[in-house]
Amino acid sequence: MTELLYLFEDSTECTASVLSCLPTGDGLYAVALDRTIFHPQGGGQPSDIGTINNVSVVKVVHTPEAVLHITDREVAGEVVLKVNSEKRHLHSRLHSAGHIIGLVGDQLGWHATRGNHFPGEARVIFEPHVPASVQLVDCVQFQAQVNQIITQAFVRVLNENNGIRTVTWGDLPAYPCGGTHVKTLNEIGQVEIKKIKLKKGQITVSYALI
Ligand SMILES: [Zn+2]
Repeated sequence: MTELLYLFEDSTECTASVLSCLPTGDGLYAVALDRTIFHPQGGGQPSDIGTINNVSVVKVVHTPEAVLHITDREVAGEVVLKVNSEKRHLHSRLHSAGHIIGLVGDQLGWHATRGNHFPGEARVIFEPHVPASVQLVDCVQFQAQVNQIITQAFVRVLNENNGIRTVTWGDLPAYPCGGTHVKTLNEIGQVEIKKIKLKKGQITVSYALI
């Protein structure tokens, strides 16, 4: 079992013990640790990258059994973990923006079903609350509503109920989520809604950070 420190803290450096380090067959290694600050890929958010004892962590994946850190060399024993904090912050900003986009869509009659928060391809996909009452959403209006919420600089609130971590900012509605998030909403900066596409009763809201 790996203790998932990234769920409740933002630190990008810590120590851990290597539980196993196995070759993956393609020249890389899959490393399991007793605890980790590395966010694995999931929920539409890319994984953290960084180092374990100065060995590159190229990707982190969450399997049903463990969080596996994919490295390009072997590691063992007590190790120092360092997450690339610049990439972490970018991913947290993009992912947190996805939450606010989901919230605004909800206010406009749409329910967010999935998202992709990778740089350059960020989007949230919605289905209507009531299928028969599909209303097209205006890009400019949507963007204004998102940025109006973000500039209020609400502070992040993390909670855990029955083993499920929820996240929100200020008194906005909370959602269960295992991703990484900005501490205050205005860290996101401004969001550009690039396109809203209606197809087969769903809308895809594509966005970027300005
Ligand atoms: Zn989230």
